[in-house]
Amino acid sequence: MSGETLMRAPSRVAGEGVFARVRFARGEQVVTVDSGRRVSRAEYERIDWSCYTGRIMQVDDDWFLEGIGAIEDFINHGCDPNVGFTVGAGGVALCALRNIEPGEEILFHYSTCEDHADWRQPCGCGSARCPGVLVGFRDLGPTDRVRLLPISLPYLRRRYGFRSEPISP
Ligand SMILES: [Zn+2]
Repeated sequence: MSGETLMRAPSRVAGEGVFARVRFARGEQVVTVDSGRRVSRAEYERIDWSCYTGRIMQVDDDWFLEGIGAIEDFINHGCDPNVGFTVGAGGVALCALRNIEPGEEILFHYSTCEDHADWRQPCGCGSARCPGVLVGFRDLGPTDRVRLLPISLPYLRRRYGFRSEPISP
């Protein structure tokens, strides 16, 4: 399905990106995020970043997903994203946060999946919201946490979400 509704093309954000070929209505699923090779934290920590050319994202407390060439592996980050994570019957997916027109680049916020203490990379996404640097969820300010938690991966919602604590006597 994604092959018909999405396409890869040069991006003004970075390298190659993913673009809508059709209109997506707000709330509609844009792409599932389930393909890839599962990588443990131990393996992740052994990666030599100086020569690593793959794409890898955190998907759970101790698990990462390394891209194997699926179209979703090429989605760029945006500080003002137009898709966010949801969990439905088909697993984890990226859904439209607003209506997306054909030709628009699909962007999700990388802090909605990454939570490393020292994870930090420059950002030139061009959004008015862009602080110029991208950090893990834990290093976000309170405003961004509130904005991004509802569209973050389940492990982040568990980790940082409001829990219903029993009322102490
Ligand atoms: Zn940015």
